Amino acid sequence: MLQSSFCQRNAYVTISQKITPGLQCRMEHTIIQQLNDFKAKGNLPSPKGIAIQIIQLAENEETTTQQIARLINNDPALAGRIIKAANLLNPRKVRPIASIMDAVTVLGIKSVRQLALSLSLVADFRSGGCEGFNYPKYWAHSTCTAIAAQELVSRMHLGVPDEAFLLGLLAQIGKLTLATLFPERYSNILEQTDSAALRTLERQELGLDHCQASAWMLADWGMPKVFQEIALHIEAPETAAFQEGERSWRLLQLFHFADQLAEVCTQPPAERCRLVPHLMLLATRIGIETDALTEIGNQVIKGLGEWSSLLSLRTPSIPAFEDILDTAIITPELLDINTPVQIQPAIFKLNILLVEDDRAIQLLYKSLLEKTGHIVRVANNGKAALAMVQASAPQLIISDWVMPEMDGIEFCKALRQNPDWQKIYVFIVTAQESTEKLVEAFEAGVDDYLTKPLNPRVLAARLRAAQRIIQMQQAHEEDRQQLRQFADELAASNKRLQELALTDMLTGLPNRRFGMERLEQEWALSARSGRPVCCLMIDVDHFKSINDNHGHMFGDEALKMVATSLHQAARKQDVVCRLGGEEFLVICTDTDEQAGYQYAERLRLQVAAQNLRIQDTPLHLTVSIGVAGNRSHNSVEAMLHQADERLYAAKAAGRNRTIAN
Ligand code: GH3
Ligand code: MG
Ligand code: MG
Ligand code: MG
Repeated sequence: MLQSSFCQRNAYVTISQKITPGLQCRMEHTIIQQLNDFKAKGNLPSPKGIAIQIIQLAENEETTTQQIARLINNDPALAGRIIKAANLLNPRKVRPIASIMDAVTVLGIKSVRQLALSLSLVADFRSGGCEGFNYPKYWAHSTCTAIAAQELVSRMHLGVPDEAFLLGLLAQIGKLTLATLFPERYSNILEQTDSAALRTLERQELGLDHCQASAWMLADWGMPKVFQEIALHIEAPETAAFQEGERSWRLLQLFHFADQLAEVCTQPPAERCRLVPHLMLLATRIGIETDALTEIGNQVIKGLGEWSSLLSLRTPSIPAFEDILDTAIITPELLDINTPVQIQPAIFKLNILLVEDDRAIQLLYKSLLEKTGHIVRVANNGKAALAMVQASAPQLIISDWVMPEMDGIEFCKALRQNPDWQKIYVFIVTAQESTEKLVEAFEAGVDDYLTKPLNPRVLAARLRAAQRIIQMQQAHEEDRQQLRQFADELAASNKRLQELALTDMLTGLPNRRFGMERLEQEWALSARSGRPVCCLMIDVDHFKSINDNHGHMFGDEALKMVATSLHQAARKQDVVCRLGGEEFLVICTDTDEQAGYQYAERLRLQVAAQNLRIQDTPLHLTVSIGVAGNRSHNSVEAMLHQADERLYAAKAAGRNRTIAN
């Protein structure tokens, strides 16, 4: 059984056992001694009368609800307030609490003990001797913190809501303690500084700050160590030694937020404007979106009215919470101050599209991602996001689930319908983690999910995993592109080689190989279509003498000229090729031997009629031609052989002539 901490005789015995180690190492021994002295002298804020007896009785584990109820009923005023308070706190609200017995049964002895303590404190310290200390504002702030904490704990299922209320109410009790212990000195301190430097000045001037005093008071009242830790770190949660993500860490974040919300509610309008953006970002961090924040804020304002009348406190007038939030201007600079987490810069930059309807969350995520070195664009809903993807596809999409116009799931389904966007890596951000919902998301085509509130370190880790996959995909895509490029280059060079292999270098005409292949094709076509084909075997007359008289180079030029004049004189559908030396072959489609003869004569006369000239040397060339058609032959070779024979016959007959049939 714990000794009553209010029992002055035992003050030195009990406190050191109850105190949290976090507080012990932060406070000098002399200060603890001093507080114990104050306590012994009865100078600390403490409940009086029946309230003390209730607290003492409640500390005995064998005390029954009836005993507590009987004791409270001895003070009708306190009993009335406890019943009203119990109704406000009553979590079930099925039926109103009408008696103290009801109240103790519904709330439990522990909460009634805390309630008696709180009510008694409020009643006795509504005003006091510290001139610079704003007692009404202090209680309004505490009440707001209490209501906000109660609401948040209930929403987040983090504990017992009415316990959260009472801790919220007493979390800043250290301020009242300092005002009570050092009325004049504390008044001076409050005149000198704004809230940011207050704790430092308190420690300098008084040896302890109000958070330490709060924790010490809670320890003295036998409250759990986690409550003391929360009171100690409520203004700077990052200084607590809690493990990120564990229950006490989350509770501390929640109380810090409740404290800040209370600050926003109780400050004058100008100061309020300055605080709102920070509050919105804090909300984002604990998973409260703007809509929910507005609801909680309005509940706090409404609750403050109810509790104020119960506690006979003066209430400041506070506008509707949506109007308060509207005054907020969230700037990216603000985020810099409020992101305590150090994030490693990404080596591999990603093009990210953030799809989110809540402005505060947008800015927070954007700032986190940009700090990591990524490039971020923002869309307000799925529809806008699709348009942005169309304009330029990102590598990664982080999409909220619940959004107006088009939600995250619909957006993802629409995205995956386009084959070009299948590869975009998609994260969905969700507050709802039910298996069905997650399966639905994956079926819609998301690659991974993130849970709200977004933990910056988890985000960074998940991004690294996504980066690995995107990087692999990109490398694979690059390989494919390179292969495609090689294949294209290979095809082009093959084509060039093939052209080279089929072209005569000197004249640019198709060569013998080409001519022979083509002749085979035309032969086959002719066999199928029944249309005739014939070939003209052409040989330049006395060419050797040109070489002999003018040199080989001159001979080459002369050959080119013959090639050009044959090519020009030929019909479009015919193929003129150089077989080698000064011999040419013309393949004439749709032409029988008779027509071939006419045609050959035209070519021959055209060559003979040309007045050629090479470097001022006139040149007169003639050709002899042998013509053969396919009709009287059963193979290409036989037809060629006959054309050859006729060519020789033309030579023999005196040259510059054509022989057919
Ligand atoms: P004809 O055909 O009228 O009987 O007399 P020709 O002088 O043309 O007889 P032949 O076929 O014996 O000679 C062909 C000559 O063509 C032999 C060679 O010097 C020349 N010749 C063959 N290919 C080339 C070439 O690419 N360039 C040059 N400048 N001359 C070539
Ligand atoms: Mg949303
Ligand atoms: Mg020849
Ligand atoms: Mg010749």
